[in-house]
Amino acid sequence: MCSTISQRNPVGVTNKICITLLLLFANSEWTHARPPSEAQQKSTTANRCGYESCPKIKAGMLNVHLIAHTHDDVGWLKTVDQYFYGSKSEIQKAGVQYILDSVIVELLKDPEKRFIYVESAFFFKWWREQNAELQEKVKMLVNQGRLEFIGGAWSMNDEATTHYQSIVDQFTWGLRRLNDTFGECARPRVGWQIDPFGHSREMASMFAQMGFDGLFFGRLDYQDKEERLMTQTAEMIWRASANFDESSHLFTGALYNQYQAPPGFCFDILCTDEPIIDAKHSPDNNVNRRVDDFLKFVNQQAQNYRTNNIIITMGGDFTYQNANMYYKNLDKLIRYTNERQANGSNINLLYSTPSCYLKALHDADITWPTKDDDFLPYASDPHSYWTGYFTSRPTLKRYERIGNHFLQVCKQLTAMVPKVYDEFNPHLSFFREAMGIMQHHDAVTGTEKQAVAGDYARRLEVAMRACATNTRSILNELTLGQASVETTTRSVSEYIPKSQCKKKKEYRLQFDTCTLLNISSCLVSETSDKFILTLYNPLARTKSEYVRVPVPDVNYEVKDFEDTTIEIQFLPVPAPVQDLHFRKSSSPYEIIFAARDIPPLGYKSYYITTTNDYRKRPVADPENTSSFTSISNEYLRLSFDTNGFLNTVTDDGMTRSISQEFLYYEAASGDNREFRNRSSGAYIFRPINEQVRSIAHRPKIKVYRGNLVEEVHQYFNSWVSQVVRLYRQEKSAEFEWLVGPIPVDDDKGKEIITRFNSDINSGDIFYTDSNGREMITRNRDHRDTWKVKLLERTAGNYYPITTKIALEDENARMAILTDRAQGGTSLGAGSLELMVHRRLLHDDAFGVGEALNETAYGEGLVARGKHYLIVGSSSKQTSRTTQAIERFTQLHFLLPLWSFFSDAENISYPDWRENFTNIFTGIQLELPKSIHLMSFEPWHDNEVLVRFEHILEKDEDPEFSKSVQFNVQSIFSNLKIIDIRETTLAANALLGEHQRFQFVPDSPDVAYNSYSVYKKFAAHQFMLRADRPLLDCEYHMESEIAIDEMEDNEEADQLALQTNRLKRAVNESQELNRQRAEYLRKLKVGQVTVNDDDANYDDPFIIELSPMQMRTFILTLESDS
Ligand SMILES: [Zn+2]
Repeated sequence: MCSTISQRNPVGVTNKICITLLLLFANSEWTHARPPSEAQQKSTTANRCGYESCPKIKAGMLNVHLIAHTHDDVGWLKTVDQYFYGSKSEIQKAGVQYILDSVIVELLKDPEKRFIYVESAFFFKWWREQNAELQEKVKMLVNQGRLEFIGGAWSMNDEATTHYQSIVDQFTWGLRRLNDTFGECARPRVGWQIDPFGHSREMASMFAQMGFDGLFFGRLDYQDKEERLMTQTAEMIWRASANFDESSHLFTGALYNQYQAPPGFCFDILCTDEPIIDAKHSPDNNVNRRVDDFLKFVNQQAQNYRTNNIIITMGGDFTYQNANMYYKNLDKLIRYTNERQANGSNINLLYSTPSCYLKALHDADITWPTKDDDFLPYASDPHSYWTGYFTSRPTLKRYERIGNHFLQVCKQLTAMVPKVYDEFNPHLSFFREAMGIMQHHDAVTGTEKQAVAGDYARRLEVAMRACATNTRSILNELTLGQASVETTTRSVSEYIPKSQCKKKKEYRLQFDTCTLLNISSCLVSETSDKFILTLYNPLARTKSEYVRVPVPDVNYEVKDFEDTTIEIQFLPVPAPVQDLHFRKSSSPYEIIFAARDIPPLGYKSYYITTTNDYRKRPVADPENTSSFTSISNEYLRLSFDTNGFLNTVTDDGMTRSISQEFLYYEAASGDNREFRNRSSGAYIFRPINEQVRSIAHRPKIKVYRGNLVEEVHQYFNSWVSQVVRLYRQEKSAEFEWLVGPIPVDDDKGKEIITRFNSDINSGDIFYTDSNGREMITRNRDHRDTWKVKLLERTAGNYYPITTKIALEDENARMAILTDRAQGGTSLGAGSLELMVHRRLLHDDAFGVGEALNETAYGEGLVARGKHYLIVGSSSKQTSRTTQAIERFTQLHFLLPLWSFFSDAENISYPDWRENFTNIFTGIQLELPKSIHLMSFEPWHDNEVLVRFEHILEKDEDPEFSKSVQFNVQSIFSNLKIIDIRETTLAANALLGEHQRFQFVPDSPDVAYNSYSVYKKFAAHQFMLRADRPLLDCEYHMESEIAIDEMEDNEEADQLALQTNRLKRAVNESQELNRQRAEYLRKLKVGQVTVNDDDANYDDPFIIELSPMQMRTFILTLESDS
C-alpha cells in the first residue's frame, strides 16, 4: 500500500512520489471505466486538495464562508447502529448512511460544492459498503478538496471526562484509517469540536501537537461568549500549555451560532424553514425578503469578528439526509445574494470549508488576542452549569477507563508476540474502535439515553472479549517457551517446539480476566483448588503492587516460580459488598500479597493452591468508642475520631487535621420552561441550594490489621460504605467507596459527594488536571478572562477531574487521585470535594429526554470506586516532591498490573515450574522514572508505533522535572529495528513535514474592554431553548430579574460606546497589525532555520524529552522473510 507514512523510508524522506502515482493510476482507471462529463474533466484538471483547493475569496468584500456540514453523534438518543442505518426513526429521524449517499451524489454533480465530514466511525462504516467504482469517485472528491475530512478522529470526543491517552488513541486510529485509505489529501487540518460541552486546554495542546492548524468549536460560557463577541476576541491564539512554547499554540475560533444554520435558513428535510422561492411572478416569491434577512444576520455576525471573512455553518444534527434539498436552496441563496454585488453590495457568499476559512484568516495577516486558561465549565444560561455530566453514569465512566487499561495491555502483547495470527489485528482494531466510540461527547459523558449507555457497555465488553483471545493466545505462546527473564521476544519463538505452534487453538492455560474483581468475585479463584495468577505489567518500568484475590476460605498458599512462598494476609470482603444481592460469589475472603518486581512490559506468574493449613480467620479490633482509632504504615498514620470519621493524617511526623465524610446535594426539579425552573439532569448539576446534607452522624467502623495492610471498614448507612486502607510501604491512602442504591422514595434526586476538609490554608485557590495531564489553577468564584457572575455558586465552581484535584499552602499539600472522571471543587479553604454518584428524577431538557435514574438488578445503580489521598510538604526544594509522588502514583493507578487467572487442576507445581516461562519482559532496559511508554502497538507490517511521554511538568520536582535523554534502540534491543521515524502526535504525518500556520499575537499593550454586566442579551445571541434544545431561537431573558438587578443602565450604555470605540480602533490599526505580523513571522522563520542547522541528527535513536513532552515514533523492524 502506498500510504503516506507506511513506507520504510529513511528519516525525513517522504514518499510523495508514491502518492502521486497512486492518484494518477486511480484517475486513469476511472476515466477508462466511463468517459468523464464536462464537470468531471474540469475537476480532474484541477486535482488539488488542502489549502490549494480553497475557493478564491474577493478582496475588498466581506466573504461569507458557507459550511455545508452535518453533526452526526456516534450514539446519543439512538445507538451507533440505529443512527447509521436510520432505524428507530420514532426517536429521531436520523440515518447517517443516507447523508453520505446523498452528499456524494451532489458533490459529483457540481465541482463548486463542498462538504466536510468529521466522524471516522461513521465514515468507514459507510465506506465498507460501497463498491469500488463509487470508492474511486469518493477518492477523487477527496483529492480535489471537495470532500474534506475535518477532526478525523473516530468520534468527536468529549473534552472534560476523557483521558489524554484515549484521546490520542482515538485520533491516531481515525487519522490512520483516513491516511491508509486516501493518503495525504484526507489529512484534516482543522479541529472541529462543535458540540462538546466546554473545551479543555489539553485538547487544544494535543491538536497543536497533532499538527492541526486551528480549532473551531461551538459551546462556551454564555457570559464569556457575549464578552468575546463584543470585544472581537472570539477568535484567538490559545497558548495551550504552560510547559511548551509555540508548538502548543493553536488558533481557535468560537463559532457565532454554535453550529446551526442562521435562524430561518435551515433548508433540511428536518426543518420547516421556507425554501427560497424564485419563480418570477409567483405570489410566494420571497427572494428579496430572504436575502435581506440573511444579509442582516451576516452583518450582525461580521460586527463581532475581526477580518473581512466570516464562517457560517449551514447544517446541524444529522442534516443532509436529502442533500439535494439543502444544496439547491444554498445555490439560490448564493446566486441571489451575490447578484446584488452588481448594485454595489460588498457581500460575497461562497461554498467553503473551515480550513479554507482558517486560511483566509491566516492570509489576512493581522494580529490576534491570546488565551491561557480553558473553556470549562460551560454554562448555557445563568442556571445551567454543565457540570453534572462530569459525574453522570459513574460506572460507565469507570468501565471506559478499564477499557483503556486493557487496550494498552492487548496492544503491547500483540506487538511483541513472535507469531501474529490473522485474527489478532482485526481484534485489536475492533477494540480501538470501541474505545474511540466511548470517547464521544454523548458516551463517556453519560448524557445518552439509558438504552444507548447499555449499548456502549455491550460494545466495549464484546471488544474486550475479542482482544482477550489475543492475550490468551499470546500468553500461551510466551509461557510455553523456557525463556528466563532475560529472554527476548524473538528468541522465545525459537524455544517453542514446532509441534506446539501447530496446536495454536489448544491452549494449555486459559488466562481469564475476572471482570467482577471490583466486587471481589472471580470464578477461577473461587472454584479452583489450584490456579495460576499471571500479572502483566503495562508500564515500561519494574513494578511492585499489592494484589487481592477472592477466595472461599483462609487455607491458601502463594508461590512464585523460584519456589518461594510469598507472604500473604487474609481479609474479609467488606460486609456491604458481601451483602450485594446480585453478587453471586462464594468468597467471603481475599488473599492479599505483594507482587514484587514485575518486569516492565512483562509478566510474572504465581501458583496459588489450597493447603490443609487453615489460618486464623481475620477478626476486627474490639469495638472502641471511647478513644481515637488509627491505622498506620511506615509513612502515614490515619486517625479516626470516636464517631468513626477520619480526623487527622500524620505524614513524616507532621500531624494535620484532615477529615472526610459523605454528603449529598438535593437536586433541583422544575418544569424547565424557563431557566430558573431548570432541573438537575444528565448534563447540568443544579442543587436546590448550597446546603449539603449529612449522610450519617456516626458511622460504624471495624478495624482490621495485619502484616501487609491495615483497614478501617466504615459503614455510614445502608447505601454508603467505605474501606480506608494503608498498605505497607505505600505513600498514599486508599479510600474505596461503595455508594448506592441512592434512595429516591422521597421523590428527591440526590447528588452524592465525598468531602475532605483540612487545615491547609489554601484560600480560594485549588488545582485540577486537564484530561489527566497538565494542572490548571482554579480560583473560586472567578474566571481568568472575564468577571463572572455566578447565580449557581456550587455548580459554577465545579470542574472536571479526570485524575487529580489538589490544594496547598506554603507548608502542606493535599491531593486526591480518582479512578475515573468526576466533578470536583473546593468550596472553602482547605476543602476538596468530588461527586461520586448521582440519581435524578427529572430531565434537564437538553435533549436526552430521560431522567438520569440508573438502575440495575431492579434497584438503583450501585457504584464502587477508589480515591487515593496523598498528603505531604508543598516544598519543591528537594526531590522527591509531593507532586512527583502524585505523578508516579497517578500512572501506577492508571495502568496497574492486569490479572490473568488460569485454572491449574491438571498442572502440578513442579510441572508448572519446569515447563512454563513464568517471568517475561518485552523490553531490555527500563525507562527512566519520569518517562512513560505511552504507546507500544503493532502498526503496519513490520512496524511498531511507540510513544514516549515525560510525565512531570517543568516546576514539579528539582530532579524528576529535568529533561531526559535515552537511546530507543537500547530500550528495545530485543527488536531488530532498522529504521526510526518521528511523527506528529497522532502518527499521521512525519514530524517537520509540514509547517503549521503561524498566527501572530496582538502586542501586549493592546487591552480589550473587559466588563461583565450587560443591560440585556444582545439581539444576536442565540441560545438553547428548553423545549428545542438544538435548533435556533432566543431564550427570553425578561424574567431573569437576578441579572437585571446587577445592572446599571448607564454603565451598560458606556460599555456599548467603548465597544464601538474598540471596533474603530481595530479597523484603524489593522494595517499596523498586518505589518507587525509580517515582521514577526519573518523573524520566526529565521530562528527556525538557525535551530535546524544546529540540531544534532547523528543518532536518530537517541531522543530527549522535556517536561510534559510526548514524542511518537514508527519503528521499522527487520522483516522475518
Ligand atoms: Zn453532538
